Amino acid sequence: MERLSASTPLAGSVVKPAFDPKTLKPGILHIGLGAFHRAHQAVYNDLALAKEPGDWAIVGVSLRSLDIVRDLKAQDHIYSVVTRSGAGESVQVVGSIVKGISAVEDREELLALLVDPAIKIVTITVTEKAYGLDPRTGGLDRNHPAVAADLANPTAPVGVIGYIVEGLARRHAAGQEPYTVLCCDNLPTNGRIVRRLVIEMAGARDPALANWISGHGAFPSSMVDRIVPAATDEGRARAAGLLGAEDALSLETEPFMQWVIEDHFIAGHPAWDKAGALFVDDVEPYEKMKLRLLNGAHSMIAYLGQLKGLEYVRDVMAVPECRDLARRHMQAARKTLDPVPGIDLDKYIDQLIERFENPTIAHRTKQIAMDGSQKLPQRLFAGTAEALAEGEDADTAALATALWIAYAKRTPDIDDPRREELRRAAAEPAGDDASAPFFALPGLFPQALIDNRGWRNLVNAKLAEIEAGRL
Ligand code: NAD
Repeated sequence: MERLSASTPLAGSVVKPAFDPKTLKPGILHIGLGAFHRAHQAVYNDLALAKEPGDWAIVGVSLRSLDIVRDLKAQDHIYSVVTRSGAGESVQVVGSIVKGISAVEDREELLALLVDPAIKIVTITVTEKAYGLDPRTGGLDRNHPAVAADLANPTAPVGVIGYIVEGLARRHAAGQEPYTVLCCDNLPTNGRIVRRLVIEMAGARDPALANWISGHGAFPSSMVDRIVPAATDEGRARAAGLLGAEDALSLETEPFMQWVIEDHFIAGHPAWDKAGALFVDDVEPYEKMKLRLLNGAHSMIAYLGQLKGLEYVRDVMAVPECRDLARRHMQAARKTLDPVPGIDLDKYIDQLIERFENPTIAHRTKQIAMDGSQKLPQRLFAGTAEALAEGEDADTAALATALWIAYAKRTPDIDDPRREELRRAAAEPAGDDASAPFFALPGLFPQALIDNRGWRNLVNAKLAEIEAGRL
């Protein structure tokens, strides 16, 4: 079977870009060419360009892997997104990404693009751990390898914050406007976090640069949502059947997608609003809703699945007690939320349960279980501290915490940037206060939870039940 390319004759049922990708001019540089960007922002961009044409093609940057750049090139930069649910499936070929750059091989080309005035927005999805955020201070973690390298050698960056700062430094020196930096990773107030990290790194080399960024930069926050599992061979085979061509970059996802963006851009943006994105003054209520209801329950499901030997989220949801637990956790977390404009939270929870149950989406519990130390503070612990302060119970959160600790104890090769610390915590002798070594990890739990003896006892009790096999 031939490889998907611009000359592949596609069946009428395949949704194609409403524009000719070869004629599109770039206006966005996206860092982190993972599955999520390709099935979320790039899809919004295709829809927006269909409604309102403009110079808003995406140049995708991979900071690490060369494969994705080679694969994109081999397919004329097009790829398919297959949307699946119990109601059926549909396939779309996405054309918004017109070029791929590997930061490893093409650093100078990347730096030249960052200073190209045609690039008006830099968007990012590089996972939570790539930013080098010190959770204790909210500033840079100077021991993070990429942060340390970029502070030592700022004009030859390797990390995401280093690239953004060097690009802005070059713009400043050239008398240009900054680009807007739009973070699309699952971090709370993600725009504010990235702004602070960028200004701190800029200030370490040149206080005038930091001042300029502080006065002229734009770092809108955004809430992103679409379940996009890592691609599988089965999914690629299904896509090949639908396309009549092999697509190494094909992804499967659910029909649902959501994007709420703070309306603060220096030089405009594509008509993402016409594609269904919501531009608002304050993203925080949406972000908290999504992190605490969707992501919090997702992590709980992931650790349940890993401990029970269930491979996919849908398998965990097929166990009635687990499904009830996920719902109860969402209902408890919901009490920590302010009203969210335009959203009925009961319906939102019902919809989440249905999305998690989607029998056609193969989302591995192992994928969601990774990087718990980077995810749980915003998904679970912050809301739990608020719930307890309000006098609410936080039983399901205690169970979710115990599940993560049990998983860390049972998984010496845990996929987490703090693996060594987790291993050491897991190896400490477990007395009555079995979770204590985890509560002692710096910057992980809010002080209010560390100080809450009653809740910690509950975590210990749940952990003992799990370890006794009563899950
Ligand atoms: P992925 O594994 O397909 O891609 C991750 C990307 O991040 C890759 O480009 C990788 O090179 C880059 N990356 C990883 N670690 C890095 C590091 N230390 N330094 C620099 N770059 C690094 O994952 P994905 O599905 O694309 O998800 C990426 C992020 O998108 C998530 O962490 C989350 O913040 C957000 N997100 C994902 C989903 C989803 O369903 N997949 C949903 C909402 C939000």
